[in-house]
Amino acid sequence: MKKILLLGATGSIGLQTIDVIEQHSDEFELVGIAAGNQVDVLNEIIQKHPSIQVVGIGNENKKQEVHHDNVFAGKDAMVQCIEHCDYDLLVNAVVGFRGLKPTLTSLYKGKDVALANKESLVAGGVLVRKALQETNTSLYPIDSEHSAIFQCLQGNKKEQVKRLIITASGGSFRDKTREQLKDVTVEQTLKHPNWSMGKRITVDSATMVNKGFEVIEAHFLFDLDYDQIDTVLHAQSIVHSMVEYNDHAILAQMGSADMRLPIQYALVYPERIKLEEEHPFDATQTFTLDFKKMDFERYPMLKLAYEVGRKEGNLGAVFNGADEQAVELFLDHKISFLQIEESIAKAIEHAQYISNPSYEQLEQSDLQARQFVRELWD
Ligand code: MG
Repeated sequence: MKKILLLGATGSIGLQTIDVIEQHSDEFELVGIAAGNQVDVLNEIIQKHPSIQVVGIGNENKKQEVHHDNVFAGKDAMVQCIEHCDYDLLVNAVVGFRGLKPTLTSLYKGKDVALANKESLVAGGVLVRKALQETNTSLYPIDSEHSAIFQCLQGNKKEQVKRLIITASGGSFRDKTREQLKDVTVEQTLKHPNWSMGKRITVDSATMVNKGFEVIEAHFLFDLDYDQIDTVLHAQSIVHSMVEYNDHAILAQMGSADMRLPIQYALVYPERIKLEEEHPFDATQTFTLDFKKMDFERYPMLKLAYEVGRKEGNLGAVFNGADEQAVELFLDHKISFLQIEESIAKAIEHAQYISNPSYEQLEQSDLQARQFVRELWD
């Protein structure tokens, strides 16, 4: 039995992780969960999983409402769960910069991490890389693109890789020009054509910030230069990403747009076990795959992500902090869609560069970027 500690349990990835665990109750045991705010959902999970030893809740005021004897509450709840839980694998499905500390804490505890929290690598990649070097631990990607690449790398050597090709659906506005983006609404933005995901990532898909994050993620996960990481537009989201080798063989992983495969693969790696999906992809039926060259003029945030990634230091934390704040303002109808991009570009322009940041400096950069964006539109 593999004992799982799940952070971000009530979000989209969290609930799908629980579904995978429940599909394989002979393989996995849920021993801890944490969430920010949603007590009702937490209590339902606690009731169904008597194996849970620890529960974390971010909102301190809701501690009394959690039906468990061992509850940690507040800002440090996730770290306390990690410290006080006996587990084999941490599933980090937290959204945002706050997911970085739990990733680092688990790695330094000597426990592997299945990572859905992109910000751990986008904002804190330098620290995570160091933690992986100093401990005998592994990261398993849950992001669908990185899971696809991870699957395509099996059995081959990193030195034989020519490049990674990350596919991008193009998000909600892929058929719109930049001119047409001026007055798009929050509601339109939240309608992703292929994937059903949380709000922030759906907005990030439309701005292509998400793909930019994924380029940085790939750099840290697979230890390849940015020159070896390409992106391509692929509207159907059937090919989840590809690896091209030096002999020009291209391996792709295909499947339905269902996050439970990447989640399950991260949980059972290197095994493959059965997965119940409502709509598994059937490659014996007629299907079409379209690919289009990435358009960096249409998606300037992706171009910016490459620059930020190459400069490293604290700029990833600035990029992410500015985006988190700008998306929040956009969802609150306080700024327009294109002002998300403007927020990020300006925050990076004004940030003080730190080449070799500590955790505290990254936290500071994150806070300053958020503050900068708030003041920009105040
Ligand atoms: Mg993805």
